[in-house]
Amino acid sequence: MSQAEVIDGKAFAAGLRERVGIAAAAFAAKAGRKAGLAVVLVGEDPASQVYVRNKGKQTVEAGMASFEHKLPADTTQADLIALVERLNADPAVDGILVQLPLPGHLDEQAVVERISPSKDVDGLTPTSTGRLALGLPGLVPCTPLGCLMLLKDKLGSLSGKDAVVIGRSILVGKPMAQLLLGESCTVTIAHSRTQNLPDVVRRADIVVAAVGRPEMVKADWIKPGATVIDVGINRVPAAEEGKTRLVGDVDYAGASAVAGAITPVPGGVGPMTIAVLLRNTLVAAHRNAGVALEDQAL
Ligand code: NDP
Repeated sequence: MSQAEVIDGKAFAAGLRERVGIAAAAFAAKAGRKAGLAVVLVGEDPASQVYVRNKGKQTVEAGMASFEHKLPADTTQADLIALVERLNADPAVDGILVQLPLPGHLDEQAVVERISPSKDVDGLTPTSTGRLALGLPGLVPCTPLGCLMLLKDKLGSLSGKDAVVIGRSILVGKPMAQLLLGESCTVTIAHSRTQNLPDVVRRADIVVAAVGRPEMVKADWIKPGATVIDVGINRVPAAEEGKTRLVGDVDYAGASAVAGAITPVPGGVGPMTIAVLLRNTLVAAHRNAGVALEDQAL
């Protein structure tokens, strides 16, 4: 049986970060300032702390300014919104990312809605989601844009392909479906109420799994030769006592024997997310400063 080609998101993300770095240096020379990303973290969630640290580190490595705002877990809605408004008004800040999830007493949607659309590098404001639905240029959520970059790099034109997106979250599933529609795929969005999910997935030339259920998508759901993008990041017990390991939403070993190409977990979609965040920040910086972006492919 032939093995699927492994889509190396780690290598693609490294290349993207390098191109962003080159463009960030050119931007700084033209604008007289670095592009800047502000990340807001409320509370002490350990996973969020790791994400925020990595974002800050990679922002600086790409030659951009990183502004980290760490607020206590009992921060009020009013204080958080006041910070977002200050960042909206700060000319050194091109991108604002409020790390989600927020502690339960805060209204995430209300906070995100206060982010200026010109600085919405996570692509989650109603303006950004609306522009994506309308097919207008704008800032697009990082993870699905990263998935699209990997797909286009692997397949070239996606026009006319049958794509099935499993998951309909605001963060991944819905924007992914919009992006694939924008590439003229025939798109099906599946979710927890979908009937006969294996049969739906079997139609797909492109499968994007964004569910959050370890190894849910089985080998016999995959059409031979299909391209499989696994967004899932699930921590499960490892063989060694007390240890854990990461798996995706797809049974990688089984699906690899059927698919044409597949992203591994880890090392597939995961590294793309921060690389695209840096890309989005740089694109926002150019627009905010009225400077033309030379690397049109970014
Ligand atoms: P959500 O929990 O917001 O959404 C999950 C979606 O999966 C929902 O639409 C849900 O359907 C659907 N679903 C749940 N169970 C089933 C089922 N049995 N069959 C079909 N569909 C089902 O998750 P996210 O979209 O935020 O994330 C999905 C996964 O991607 C997670 O593992 C997350 O960790 C990972 N992720 C990875 C990122 C990366 O950088 N690689 C970034 C973001 C997320 P319904 O709407 O009906 O409830």
